Amino acid sequence: MSAPVGGLRVSVRGSNHMITKSVLYDVILDRYTIDLNFSIGGLHVRGEDYARLISPIHTEQLRIKDGPSGAMAYYSPQFNVLYVPPYMTGAHPYDKALLLHELTHAVADYKGKNIYAYAGEASGYIVQSGFQMAKGFPCMRPDGSPAGAMWAKAYEIANKHGLAKHGGKGTHIKKAEWLGLGSLINAIEGYKHLTKDYQYASDGIAA
Ligand SMILES: [Zn+2]
Repeated sequence: MSAPVGGLRVSVRGSNHMITKSVLYDVILDRYTIDLNFSIGGLHVRGEDYARLISPIHTEQLRIKDGPSGAMAYYSPQFNVLYVPPYMTGAHPYDKALLLHELTHAVADYKGKNIYAYAGEASGYIVQSGFQMAKGFPCMRPDGSPAGAMWAKAYEIANKHGLAKHGGKGTHIKKAEWLGLGSLINAIEGYKHLTKDYQYASDGIAA
């Protein structure tokens, strides 16, 4: 809801989404996230990397905004914005797993690294699957429907590398693995822009 004030549209209620900073802190400080330790496509992802996002989230250098209706959630490395759907509460482990996926993109952005587009997206789905598995949910999509090939592959990689149990302990996810997952992700409508190349440009989060 907004009202025109002095020629500017000033937000009255701020936004419609229910995902607050504290929901993100819950995800970041979840035992699962703290234990994460794996590398993929030149990016090393550890629990402490997520913890470093707390400060920019607190100061709103990394902001939470309403996403377009219909979209699940996505992170913009250009604007350091996490877009979330208004209906998402953050209460269900599926929600937290999806937020962890997006925060994984923010970790790559925070590190200011250009990584392979396939690896960047694969990392998101691998931690998302690992989180769901760690919380006792079988291989399926976040909406509870049966898993397709992409989800099955993400679960398989997360499971093989111990990302559902002990955070991976520094495991290295090989290129052939994330390339395979990347190509399955690429086949999904909405991910057709993904390429195998270094293209996941991130400008870093000023903190
Ligand atoms: Zn993603």
